[in-house]
Amino acid sequence: MAQAEFALYVRAVARLGEHRVDLAVVGAGIVGLAHAVLAVERGLTVAIVERGSVPSGASVRNFGHCYLSAQAGDGLDYARTGRERWLALAAQAGFWARETGTLLVARWPEELAVIHEFAAMCEVPADVLDAEAALAKAPVGEGVLGALWTPGDVRVDPRRAVPAIAAWLEDQPGVTVHWRTDARGLGAGVLVTSRGELEADAIVIAAGHDLDRLLPEVSESAGVQRCTLQMLRVAAPGPTPIDPALATGLALLRYPGFASCPSLPALRQRFADERPELLEHGVNLLVTQQSDGTLILGDTHSYGASAGVFRAEDLDELMLGEARLLLGVERLSVRERWLGVYAYSEKGQFLVSRPEANVSAVSVTSGVGMTTALGLAERVLDDLPHRVHAVV
Ligand SMILES: Cc1cc2nc3c(=O)[nH]c(=O)nc-3n(C[C@H](O)[C@H](O)[C@H](O)COP(=O)(O)OP(=O)(O)OC[C@H]3O[C@@H](n4cnc5c(N)ncnc54)[C@H](O)[C@@H]3O)c2cc1C
Repeated sequence: MAQAEFALYVRAVARLGEHRVDLAVVGAGIVGLAHAVLAVERGLTVAIVERGSVPSGASVRNFGHCYLSAQAGDGLDYARTGRERWLALAAQAGFWARETGTLLVARWPEELAVIHEFAAMCEVPADVLDAEAALAKAPVGEGVLGALWTPGDVRVDPRRAVPAIAAWLEDQPGVTVHWRTDARGLGAGVLVTSRGELEADAIVIAAGHDLDRLLPEVSESAGVQRCTLQMLRVAAPGPTPIDPALATGLALLRYPGFASCPSLPALRQRFADERPELLEHGVNLLVTQQSDGTLILGDTHSYGASAGVFRAEDLDELMLGEARLLLGVERLSVRERWLGVYAYSEKGQFLVSRPEANVSAVSVTSGVGMTTALGLAERVLDDLPHRVHAVV
């Protein structure tokens, strides 16, 4: 290292090390920000270390759909807390969040059977609507037999909400966000970063799918992979607003909330017989309308150690075909296409590991981090060392 560079490096070390913080957080996605928000609530000082100059990971590439009603077990507990916290945080930090609910449209008798079973046993508000009532909720296309209406699900615009939370945090006393700063390793009570060392009583690593870059053993023993998804934004198909999030029978196959419905195997078999390409590419058609009227729609799922690089046009066509059917329109005009990546593990939906006494590695290892992160973070902070519980 040249002398001038070294001097800059030393100054940077001093800057990051100036203040010892109660909590250091790696990652300014929703998981990291959730920990920071709740730590601030507890009166703690917080430093967030984020390699990007803005949040640009999974947390801004999704539907912004907090799908409470599709969760089960711990996920449902986290989602319940998360729902209340999203609404409160939106008021505090000044972004849009609303209880828009979800309309899950059934076109096959097997789908109708599953949603009836779900509505009869679920722990969340849920109604089965007939076709007429479903059409009154949203302009969906022909062939609708009925729909599952879950009014308690909350929605945000992820591209606005997540940066707004980061900006709000930056305004809070005792909080610093170190953008364009890479966390590179951990020492005793120290986070080593590309700009120097940061001393902290507790450290939360919320690096999403990149956990393996920082703590490979933790990531590998939890079986974390990368799930890559294709996403689209299309122009509003018509003048009628689409208030609820829209889902189809494919969601019944994917989320744990529906897993114990007795008719699920029959529905899966029907998809396998008639639409095997949807199962092959893990298509789960979701549609959420944004404030400018455009619709976010997706998604496909493919799994591996590395994130996908290339988009497949035929998968976009597959999703667009399903969306045209759902919305009963002849064409949809694409405005944007992107890939999203999230952490995934077959071993469980949530990874919380304590590689050292004052370090927690936290990752939502299924596609429900927007729904659950704010609830999960509360549990993680409760389990951190004594000083982190201090309330000022
Ligand atoms: C296409 C798509 C659709 C989805 N839809 C939904 C949905 O509708 N509802 C829902 O609940 N969930 C949804 N999810 C899942 C949800 O988006 C994720 O579970 C959640 O965003 C994960 O948050 P995160 O903070 O762990 O990850 P990220 O948002 O990826 O943030 C991790 C951050 O850590 C930073 N980082 C990593 N390593 C380092 C390092 N060494 N140093 C510094 N910074 C580092 C990264 O730069 C990144 O900003 C979806 C995901 C995708 C991809």
